[in-house]
Amino acid sequence: MLEDFTLDKYERPIISLRITLTNRCNVNCLYCHHDGMVKSKDEMTADELYTICKVAKNIGVKKIRLSGGEPLLKKDIVETVEKIASLDFKDISMTTNGILLEKYAQDLKDAGLNRVNVSLDTLNRETYEFITKKDYLEDAKKGILKAVEVGLYPVKINMVIMKDINQNEIKDMFRFCRDNDIVLQIIELIESENCDDDKFSADYHYKLDMVEERLADMADEVYERKFMQGRKKYYIDGGEIEVVKPVDNSTFCANCSRLRITPDGKIKPCLLRNDNLVELISHVRNGESEDRLEEIFINGINNREPFNS
Ligand code: SAM
Repeated sequence: MLEDFTLDKYERPIISLRITLTNRCNVNCLYCHHDGMVKSKDEMTADELYTICKVAKNIGVKKIRLSGGEPLLKKDIVETVEKIASLDFKDISMTTNGILLEKYAQDLKDAGLNRVNVSLDTLNRETYEFITKKDYLEDAKKGILKAVEVGLYPVKINMVIMKDINQNEIKDMFRFCRDNDIVLQIIELIESENCDDDKFSADYHYKLDMVEERLADMADEVYERKFMQGRKKYYIDGGEIEVVKPVDNSTFCANCSRLRITPDGKIKPCLLRNDNLVELISHVRNGESEDRLEEIFINGINNREPFNS
C-alpha cells in the first residue's frame, strides 16, 4: 500500500526521515562524510524535533533515523527519543558509534527506540585507533552487546570497507555478528571532505562487486530490499549480511526513499548535495502552522533528484 506516501517528481515515495542531531563527535574517522553536512554548531531542541517529526508524519513518513555526528552526545537524547516515539512511527532507529551505548541502551529502549546501527569497521585495536584516532574499541563492543541484551533489535553493525585497512576482516566481523545475533552491513567507501582527494580514493576505495559475487555463491538465500536503495541481503550459515553501494550507483538513487534534516534545521533532499537545502527551523521557531510546515516539507521533496541516474 503506497497511497498515503508523498511521492517525489520521480515517483519515489518518501518513507524515512534521517535527522542529524548534532555535528559533534567523540571520534575522528579518517573517511567520515559527516552525513553530507555543512559544518555548523547549531542544534535543535527536543520540542523542535517533535514538531518536525509530527509534520513529517502528516505527509506520510513512516520511519525516523537519528544520526550525527554522534547522536549520543546530545544531552537530551533520551527525552528526544521519548517525544518522537509518542508520535507512533512504524520504526525509530539510531546510527551511533556505540561508545556511549552501554550507558544509554536501556533508557533508549524504554523511551521507545526500536533499533540501532553501530558503526564498527574493525575488531582489531590498532586498526580501530588508526581509523578513529581514539582507543574506544572495547567501549564500542560493550555498547553493541548491551544493545543486543536490551533488545534494540535487530542490532546492525555498519562496516565501511577500505582497501588494505579492513578488507580482509569481513569474515571475522561476520562471525562476530553471527555469534552475537547481529546483522552485518558492509558499506562501500564514498568520497568526503575527509577523503576527497584522488589519492584517498585510489589508496582506500575498495569496490564491493567481487565481495558480492562471493557472497552470492555462499548464500543460502538472497533478498533485495526495494525501498532501501535496492540493497541486497545475503543469508549465510545462520548469519545475515547486507551490502550498501552508494558509489556511482543509479539503483541506489532510483530506490532512495529518504529525506534528511541537518542539525541546524534544514531539509536536505540528497546525501551527496548541499546546493538544494530548504530552510525549516526558523519557520518552526516562528510558530508557523502545521499546514505551512507541510508545504515547506513538500518544497524539500520537490528538490529531490537522483544524484546518479
Ligand atoms: N557517529 C555515528 C556513527 O558513527 O555511526 C553516526 C554518524 S556516521 C557519519 C553515519 C554512518 O556513515 C556510519 O555508519 C559511517 O560508517 C558512515 N560513513 C561515514 N563516512 C563514510 C564514507 N566516506 N563512506 C561510507 N560510509 C561512511
